[in-house]
Amino acid sequence: MLHRGLLIAGREVDAVNGETFPVFAPETGRTLATVARARAGDVNLAVNAAREGFVEWYRKSASEREAVFLKAAELVANEGEARFLDTLIDESGSAIRKARREIQYTVDLLRTAAGEVRRLYGETFPNDDPHKISLVIREPLGTVAVVSPYNAPLSLLTKMAAFPLAAGNAVVIKPSEETPLTALAFGQLLLDAGLPAGAVSVLPGFGSECGAELVNHPQVDSVALTGSTQTGVLVAQQALKGMRRVQLELGGKSALLVLEDADPQQAAAIAAQGIFTHAGQICMANSRIVVDRKVYPAFIEALKREAESITLGNLRDEETVYGPLINGRAVEKVLEQVRAAVQDGATLLTGGELSSAGPLVIKPTVILQPPKHSAVWREESFGPVTCVAQAENLGDAIALANDSEYGLSAAVLTNNLQWGLQAARKIRSGAVHIGMHSFQSNALAPIGGVGMSGFGRSGGRYSTEEFTEVKWISADTGGLPV
Ligand code: NAD
Repeated sequence: MLHRGLLIAGREVDAVNGETFPVFAPETGRTLATVARARAGDVNLAVNAAREGFVEWYRKSASEREAVFLKAAELVANEGEARFLDTLIDESGSAIRKARREIQYTVDLLRTAAGEVRRLYGETFPNDDPHKISLVIREPLGTVAVVSPYNAPLSLLTKMAAFPLAAGNAVVIKPSEETPLTALAFGQLLLDAGLPAGAVSVLPGFGSECGAELVNHPQVDSVALTGSTQTGVLVAQQALKGMRRVQLELGGKSALLVLEDADPQQAAAIAAQGIFTHAGQICMANSRIVVDRKVYPAFIEALKREAESITLGNLRDEETVYGPLINGRAVEKVLEQVRAAVQDGATLLTGGELSSAGPLVIKPTVILQPPKHSAVWREESFGPVTCVAQAENLGDAIALANDSEYGLSAAVLTNNLQWGLQAARKIRSGAVHIGMHSFQSNALAPIGGVGMSGFGRSGGRYSTEEFTEVKWISADTGGLPV
């Protein structure tokens, strides 16, 4: 049986108290490894290492720091499949196509982070007293706690860790307890690329034990959390007590609007991709679809066909769209939401049960007209389930899109650019995409939400701003400028 430790100061070590936990493959239920289980003592070691790692890293020149990210990108471009593919498939239940996209996106993210190293811009501004000059410089925060989820364990972690590092911070990573192996491989990648040993540590462990200790540690300067809203609220409260900066990318209930001029077949294909990729375990998945009544009958017929033609199961088959959910609790939650909605009067168009493709595989599920108080309409499902509501017109569609406490992403399918832009401006959301589904990524884009989807943005310069602080330096030059 494979055994893995914690990665602290460049060395793989067992937990201080010697505890471990098993990591399972969702597809087969097989135990993949036992992993060291970090708690307070281990958090201390990693945070202390980060203090030293930060100094060493921040003292390096921009070109030295840039070279680390370029090397890491090159390693992923050349060896990404060897380093990550099997682990992504086995540990997170990713279909091979999704795992490959994650690896490719990781290359983009690392190259973008390399560019950010040279963009720690400051500014100057005029002073009322002409003897004086003012400078605004941008400085890293110090140690950033990175607490990551299981659904895209490589690319999301890369986005969360690489940009704070590019700005000169050290990071201590607490990956999801479901996916520590991918995170350990990522930590090793950064070390192989030349990152100073203390600047990155990876602490496998549980949220309430290791995660809570880390985000509350007095020597942690900032927290980046991607996870559920429930966890985000807890972490934000704790961070505020210690006056620590926090950036939160949380849950979503993203709406896809299909307006009256959209082609129903094409819209259904886009909608299916936007919800069923990785079994809907995507924060920005379009788990609510709002369809203008003029195209509603044709759209739901086409969506049923799309859903029922999706290839499920074998994760190493190139045709497979998705396989299992991460664990049995996730399956139970999703099926319960569907049962409750149907009991409450919603119509089940298709799915709503386990597939024969594997023990944790749920069939693509579409629910029509769920009551607006139902969990399937209001709460995140994080499964292959979407619900369809009918709208009278554009205004009604926008109102339905806004009928959510979340606001992570949204999308509008129309050929009328004015309608698309009106919807984009009126929908309360961190992003709105026109002519596409709601699950879009770009290493330069400001990713993040409003409302219960969190606050702060990550990606490119937006991460640089999140994980740095500006400092005003003024000086009396002792004379006039001319
Ligand atoms: P989760 O909230 O259960 O866990 C996320 C991380 O937080 C894990 O590492 C976990 O161990 C840790 N954690 C849990 N309790 C903690 C505590 N008290 N203190 C510190 N850390 C704690 O989320 P998950 O189930 O792993 O991931 C799925 C969720 O992530 C979904 O809600 C999804 O929408 C969200 N997500 C959001 C985005 C985004 O960009 N907004 C992206 C991906 C996933």
